[in-house]
Amino acid sequence: MDSNEAAITQTPELIPLCVPEIRGNEWRYVKECLDTNWVSSGGPFVERFETAFAARLSCEDRKVGAVACQSGTAALHAALMVAGIGPGDAVLVSCMTFIAPANAIRYVGAEPILVDAEPDHWEMDVRLVERYLADRCVTRDGATFDRETGRRIAAIIPVHVLGHPVDMDPLLELARAYGLTVIEDATESLGALYKGRKVGTLGDIAAFSFNGNKLMTTGSGGMIVTGKPEWARRAKHLTNQAKVDPVEYVHDEVGYNYRLTNIQAGMGLAQLEGIDEFLAAKQRIAVRYAEGLADIPGLMPMRAASWADSAWWMYTVLVDAGMYGMDSRSLLRALEAERIQTRPLWRGLHQEGPHAGCLVLGGGVVAARLHADALSLPCSVGLSETAQDRVLHVLASLQGSRR
Ligand SMILES: *Cc1c(COP(=O)(O)O)cnc(C)c1O
Repeated sequence: MDSNEAAITQTPELIPLCVPEIRGNEWRYVKECLDTNWVSSGGPFVERFETAFAARLSCEDRKVGAVACQSGTAALHAALMVAGIGPGDAVLVSCMTFIAPANAIRYVGAEPILVDAEPDHWEMDVRLVERYLADRCVTRDGATFDRETGRRIAAIIPVHVLGHPVDMDPLLELARAYGLTVIEDATESLGALYKGRKVGTLGDIAAFSFNGNKLMTTGSGGMIVTGKPEWARRAKHLTNQAKVDPVEYVHDEVGYNYRLTNIQAGMGLAQLEGIDEFLAAKQRIAVRYAEGLADIPGLMPMRAASWADSAWWMYTVLVDAGMYGMDSRSLLRALEAERIQTRPLWRGLHQEGPHAGCLVLGGGVVAARLHADALSLPCSVGLSETAQDRVLHVLASLQGSRR
């Protein structure tokens, strides 16, 4: 081996954060689209994908419909429109989340109210919602209004972050008592269960995402899921330019081109066929991390609540800088030098320019701490045990190295 070859073999392969897994019928279904010329929004796969997705989410006592669309963000926008949320309304939403749900609230002219996370599982703290509704709102004729601003509190968007469900029973009880529509942002939590019930079927309507880093992907895509057939019809209508005649160009309101294409739906159907294997892989990865991290002081792994079956979408740890020997961002850079890709969690939305002026229940204190200390580790469905062991080995070897 000459020195050049040695240098090459010594560079370890990149371990990416979270990449798609394509190993099923994706090639076949996409080829079928190309072979048959059905490459756009016509063709059989959109309906097949919707039907299969609805079947996956439905159970004996809860049947849901599913409407495919262009992205998870589009799904959230459509869900808000279908729920009749508009200008003058306020919508409660998680503070510690990707920005999409808060942006969607703005698309319909409503105002987000941010709800801080609870420190144990990092989900929306439902007790803060309870206190806000009881102390600062007034209920008239089944609707609830903020006493100070006069705004109607129209809906709540629990974001099930990182694959773990929000504590939904107390939230659903509050929604009933105060007349709030529940729009689940289930974009990160396909496959998760709350007390045995499927996340995304617990509220009035839900949004899923098939972005490239999600559990399953269509490149970009989303799904609106609801148990109300009339809402599903309306979601289909609004995401199809509100066209009312199959031949003539007749439209009865301002609609959107939020359609998924046949090619994307073909890919989605193939991905959905692998979903149980994907979930099992995420679970295996989570268990192996939890075991390995137990021996490394200063790294606190995420934990599932007793009532949760987490989908373990994005495996995340908190870095205790004092105990570990470096903070989360130094660790991110040290891992990058080892060709291991990690990412911090989002900034609390109260720290994000477009939503900085919003009321934030709980002050965003927990969100800010999570943003400072959290690091998501490589957790692709296809992550090998060898690669995961390398991550754990590097994490262990860096511990205390900068003390
Ligand atoms: C991924 C994601 C979305 C939707 O993302 P798209 O890229 O539009 O599919 C919405 N909310 C959260 C919390 C997400 O993580």
